[in-house]
Amino acid sequence: MKTLLVTGGTGLVGQAIKSISNNFQYNFIFLSSKDCDLSNYNETKKLFEDKKPNYVIHLAANVGGLFKNMNYKVDMLEKNLLINYNILKCCHDFKVEKVISCLSTCIFPDKIHYPINESMLHDGPPHYSNESYAYAKRMLEIHSKAYQEQYGDNFICIIPTNIYGPYDNYSLEDGHVIPALIHRCYLNKKNNEKFIVRGTGKPLRQFIYSEDLAKLIMWTLENYHQKDTLILSVDEKDEISIKEVAENIARVYEYEDMIKFDSSYEDGQYKKTADNSKLKNLIGNFEFTKFEVGIKKSVMWFIENYNNCRKI
Ligand code: NAP
Ligand code: GDP
Repeated sequence: MKTLLVTGGTGLVGQAIKSISNNFQYNFIFLSSKDCDLSNYNETKKLFEDKKPNYVIHLAANVGGLFKNMNYKVDMLEKNLLINYNILKCCHDFKVEKVISCLSTCIFPDKIHYPINESMLHDGPPHYSNESYAYAKRMLEIHSKAYQEQYGDNFICIIPTNIYGPYDNYSLEDGHVIPALIHRCYLNKKNNEKFIVRGTGKPLRQFIYSEDLAKLIMWTLENYHQKDTLILSVDEKDEISIKEVAENIARVYEYEDMIKFDSSYEDGQYKKTADNSKLKNLIGNFEFTKFEVGIKKSVMWFIENYNNCRKI
């Protein structure tokens, strides 16, 4: 049986792949930073010597929401550059047959026409709030293409849109908007306070449920044979405002009348509408989880796992 190494195997997306892994015939390895610090070259090399993976789904990254990206610019740049450099170098040296590396629609240009497709990734600077993360991730695409062109390596990249679901990081400060708001609404309701949503609520985002993304990543591994980067996103029509996100979360907690926007906080990029037509043309009909359904599952998971889930 072929060995499939999933870096970032303990995170939001890694755990979603784990939840569907019984449907596939691989020797899966779900890696955490405790097994191997991928920012350390010698540890990474030893991992590849020991495990000898045939395939790698590379998810591990220093990840976070708008406020983490703004507050930790050096870490977001350095950690991600190191992790990605070590992974691609070892994948090449140990002759991995296929590598799928994860970018993000957060790294798209800020001032551009919409929708944004795969060919527009480098057509302008990213939003200033997350430029460190964005440039590190953009280099991952350049680096993968360099390996393709110089050595013929099958190293490709995917661009997921904003992701949410079980096993997310529910940090109030560093998390993405959905897990941070799920956690804050829980606390605000407990303390009978207003539900505080940062910014104006006007920015627009497309959100994909983590299990849907896991299915699409496994489809990419087995069925996508091109070398070009592929966007994995819900449709343009499914783009919603942060206000609607907050309303959906508050509805699950039955706390809708208590929403309050704090516009002293940043809004970040207004929108980064992704064009998923390349994916749709290849995969045909894919049934994405309805946002209301995914949010309800995520809130329930958070409440059930309150004591043990990530909150920092
Ligand atoms: P996550 O939940 O924050 O998980 C990050 C994973 O990376 C964890 O398994 C973590 O291991 C691992 N990791 C971090 N630093 C490491 C290191 N130095 N060595 C080894 N492993 C390390 O992330 P995610 O949300 O699943 O994101 C997965 C991928 O999707 C990332 O590449 C991210 O950039 C991309 N992405 C995410 C979003 C989103 O909305 N979340 C959107 C688009 C793209 P530990 O658990 O041991 O710390
Ligand atoms: P982005 O999509 O990369 O910008 O990342 P986020 O998931 O952090 O979403 C940021 C958007 O959600 C911005 O418009 C924020 O103002 C808004 N937002 C509202 N409340 C929060 C919060 O508590 N945490 C985060 N991260 N964003 C919030």
